[in-house]
Amino acid sequence: MGERALLVERLMEIAGADRVVSDRDLMQSYLLDETSTLISPQPAADLVLVKPESAQEVSRVLAFANSERVPVFPRGGGTGLCGGAVPTRNGIILSLERMNDLRIDRENLMAVAGAGVTLGELVERVQGEGLFFPPHPGDDTAQIGGLVACNAGGSRAVKYGVMRNYVKGIEAVLPSGEVLRLGGALLKDNTGYSLMHLLMGSEGTLAVITEATLRLFPAPAATATMVIPYMDRHAALNTVPELLRSGITPLAIEYLDRRSAETSAAFLGTEWPCKTGEAFLMIIVDSMSQDEVNRTCQEIARIGDNHGGLEPLIGQTKKEQEKVLRIRSNVYTSLKNGLADALDISVPPASLGKLMDAIDRVADRFAVEIPMCGHAGDGNLHPALLKESFAGSEEDLKRAKRAIYEEAARLGGVMTGEHGLGKVRPPDLGLFLNGKRVELMRAIKRVFDPEGILNPGCVIGEHCENSD
Ligand SMILES: Cc1cc2nc3c(=O)[nH]c(=O)nc-3n(C[C@H](O)[C@H](O)[C@H](O)COP(=O)(O)OP(=O)(O)OC[C@H]3O[C@@H](n4cnc5c(N)ncnc54)[C@H](O)[C@@H]3O)c2cc1C
Repeated sequence: MGERALLVERLMEIAGADRVVSDRDLMQSYLLDETSTLISPQPAADLVLVKPESAQEVSRVLAFANSERVPVFPRGGGTGLCGGAVPTRNGIILSLERMNDLRIDRENLMAVAGAGVTLGELVERVQGEGLFFPPHPGDDTAQIGGLVACNAGGSRAVKYGVMRNYVKGIEAVLPSGEVLRLGGALLKDNTGYSLMHLLMGSEGTLAVITEATLRLFPAPAATATMVIPYMDRHAALNTVPELLRSGITPLAIEYLDRRSAETSAAFLGTEWPCKTGEAFLMIIVDSMSQDEVNRTCQEIARIGDNHGGLEPLIGQTKKEQEKVLRIRSNVYTSLKNGLADALDISVPPASLGKLMDAIDRVADRFAVEIPMCGHAGDGNLHPALLKESFAGSEEDLKRAKRAIYEEAARLGGVMTGEHGLGKVRPPDLGLFLNGKRVELMRAIKRVFDPEGILNPGCVIGEHCENSD
C-alpha cells in the first residue's frame, strides 16, 4: 500500500469513510482560495481532505499527522485573499465545515460558535434573537475559524474594531493533539500571557481553532447610510479627521473612486446613484434612536460641506441603504475576474491621502490605472492591480507591488491591515519585519508546532523561515 493510501485509511479510521475525500474531482474546490492567479496548489493527487466533526477528531488527526510529519492545511470558507488556506505541499486539507454548532448565551450576551459556522449564519441567527454582532469582517461564506485565524477586519472597524475585539474564548487543538481552552464568556481575564490573542491572526500556523466565544450586543434601533460625493479625493479624505474629532463615530467610513463604484453598479445591473463627483465617502451611522441618527446625518453633511462635499445622498429606508451598500460590498467581486492582485495596505488614517498620491505616482510610472477603495476611517486601502494593466509582465506586477509597499513603509504603514500574510505576501515581508521580531515569531512557531506541520509556508513564510 502506498503512503497516500495509508494516510486515507488512517483518516477514515479517525473520522469515518464518508468524511474523507481522496477523489481528485471532489477535492478541486478545496485547492484554492480567492487568490487563484497568485499561487499554485499542490495537485489533488498528493492530498487528502478530511472533515472532522469534533475537537476530539481534530485532535486525533493532528496527533497522527504530527507523529508522521505530514503537513496539515486548515481550511475555513476559502474566502481568504492571500493564499493562506491553499495546500502547497503533499498532505492533509483539514476542513472545519462540519463543526457548525451555534449556541446563543443570552444571559452573558455571547455566541458560542463552532469553527465551521459561517459569518452569514452567525449574523442571521443573532439578528433572529434581536441581538447584534457588530463587525462584518469578511465574505458571508467565511467561517468563524477562518475569521478568528485571520483576525479579520471589515468596514465597521471604525466604531466597533476588528475580530479580536469580539473574541472572548477559543477552543483550539495543538499539533500534538492537546486541546486548549482559552478565555471563555469573560469580559476580563488577565491570567498570564494571552495565548488566545496569539492565536488570533496566526492563520492556521500555530493551532487549529475548533470553537470561539464571541461577544454580542443589543441591536441598534436605527441606521442610515449616506454617500457624500466630492470632485477631489483630498477633499473627501480631509473630511474624515474632522468628522472623527467632532465626536461622531460612524459605523463605517468607506472610500470609493468613481471607477470602482460604477464597475460594481454595472456588475449588479444597476447605476451608481451619484451623477456628480469623482470620489465618494460612504458613511454608515447607527444609534438606539432615529432622532439621534437624523441629527448625526445632518452634522456629517455639515462637516462634508465644509470640505467641498457635494449634495449628499442619505438612505434611510432599508431598500435605499441596501442599494449603496451592495454596490460597495461588490466592488471586489465586480473586479475579481480582472484582478491580478488586491492589496491591503494600512497606514495611519491621516496619511491615507499621501498613500493614494504615492500610488498614483506608481501607476504613472507603469502607465496603468490603479482603482482604489477602502476603509477610509481606518487608513486601510485596497488598491486593485488589474490583469489588463500587467498582462504578460509578471516582473512589472512584482515591481509595482514592491513600489506600493515601499511607499506604505515610508508612511509608517504595513502591507496588510486585515487580510493577513498567507502564502502570497511573505516574499515582501522583509520590508516590514526583520531582526528580533522575526526571531521571536519563529521561536513562537517552534513552541506551538515543533515539527512544522501546520500550514507550512504561511505567515512568516519560507523567506523568513530560512533567513538566518
Ligand atoms: C467578497 C469578499 C469580501 C471580503 N471582505 C473582507 C473584509 O471586509 N475584511 C477582511 O478582513 N477580510 C475580508 N475578506 C477576506 C476573507 O473573507 C477573510 O480573510 C476571512 O477571515 C477568511 O475566512 P475563511 O473561513 O474563508 O478562511 P480561509 O480562506 O479558509 O482560511 C484563511 C486562513 O485561516 C486559516 N484557517 C481557516 N480556518 C481555520 C481554523 N479553524 N483554525 C485555524 N486556522 C484556520 C487557514 O489556514 C488560512 O490560513 C473578504 C473576502 C471576500 C471574498
